[in-house]
Amino acid sequence: MSIQASGECVQNACPPHLVRWYAYYLHFRSVTVEIKGISITRSLTRGTPQGGILSPLVWNLVFDDLLDRFNTGPAHIKGFADDAAIVLRGPDIYTLIEWGQEAISKALNFGHENDLEFGADKTEVVVFTRKRLNILGLPCLHMANRDLSYSDTVKYLGVLLDSKLTFGPYIREKVKKATRLLYCFKTSVGQLWGPSPYLTRWVLTGIVLPKITYGAMVWAGKASNYKKHLDRVQRLGLLAMAHIRRSTPTAGLEAILGVMPLDLHTQCVAVRVAYRIWGQNRDRWDGIGCGRLRGHLFWSNQLMEQVDMGDCVNSNKKAIQDLFHKKWRECWKHLNTCRQTKYWIDDPGSLGDAMARLDRLTLRTVLQALTCHNYLNYHHHIAGNFSEQNCRFCGEGHEEFIHLACECPALATECLGSVQGLRLSRNPPDVYGLVRFTKVNCIGKALERRAE
Ligand SMILES: [Zn+2]
Repeated sequence: MSIQASGECVQNACPPHLVRWYAYYLHFRSVTVEIKGISITRSLTRGTPQGGILSPLVWNLVFDDLLDRFNTGPAHIKGFADDAAIVLRGPDIYTLIEWGQEAISKALNFGHENDLEFGADKTEVVVFTRKRLNILGLPCLHMANRDLSYSDTVKYLGVLLDSKLTFGPYIREKVKKATRLLYCFKTSVGQLWGPSPYLTRWVLTGIVLPKITYGAMVWAGKASNYKKHLDRVQRLGLLAMAHIRRSTPTAGLEAILGVMPLDLHTQCVAVRVAYRIWGQNRDRWDGIGCGRLRGHLFWSNQLMEQVDMGDCVNSNKKAIQDLFHKKWRECWKHLNTCRQTKYWIDDPGSLGDAMARLDRLTLRTVLQALTCHNYLNYHHHIAGNFSEQNCRFCGEGHEEFIHLACECPALATECLGSVQGLRLSRNPPDVYGLVRFTKVNCIGKALERRAE
């Protein structure tokens, strides 16, 4: 960008004495470099200072001109910092290509006038459509004597958009990065040692999940299609909190530890963002397709209609959170697995904070007890490792945690006096009572790994 251009643009928006002052500064600044005793001074002829407070404003004043040029015509333009995206919409691909070429010429003209250059290497052309289209047979767009080839994906403001807007490549890429991050973290965690569960949960919910939910507003509607991928990340994070049996189900862990399933969490974040920016951006493009196939705006509007919105911003945010908690509760209720955990917990997440404050070893025992993925006879028998499945104390009924905590007649007699009186409440259980119960010697030993 030339000094001339920035001067002209500032002139339109600022008092003349400020313009003179800034123009003087731009014209007469110099830079001195000193290496190994040799000093060279040069005067600067282009650009605004890196990191200067005024620089973004001056850039915006120049760039605004480009945005204004697209106020008329079929092409719409969106600018963010020095990035621009031209969007064209229409039923016929050949017309769109023609319009696209005109839009590129318009942008290049602006560049020539302001001494700016648009990089053909950094320009991508993507045809967003659900139709089958042979992009190899389409005529190319040209930019500065170079052909612009068509791509299947484009990364815009950090979100990878694919030509069918399925967001599959983006979600898979994010999951891959988050998994790598969690594996790095897992190197600092052992079976019996490592950061407290509270800190580990914070690593998951405070560092890893925000990385995944970036741009959720745009792609959260498709999150449920990739539930398996998202669950894999969540599971890895939850398993770092305590060393438990590998068969322990993810849904049970989420319910006990108070971490919402990742697909629901992503949707919750998206709706919160939609609410925050509601009414700010009127020029909207809602993806491709029609009816139920419409894009993120249609999806988020539908969910926002389910929330009782009032005047208070905080209550509305709380209402959105409650809506997704309700959805989680329904999913939990209709889940076919996690029989044992469901016996103890009706409302998923209700024990989360209390559980996260336990130490690693206690949490391990408590998780083994509540999920029943432990070394008691019954589960061990189901896992195909041990023939005996009845209770070792009374010999009646399957030896599972519900039996020990609520039903076993032998544990209620005086011969196991330390257990007497410890009948656990359920839905939700009292965490302190639960910890005391699992710490009773005979029960703790039974839950832990047996000598084969
Ligand atoms: Zn028994």
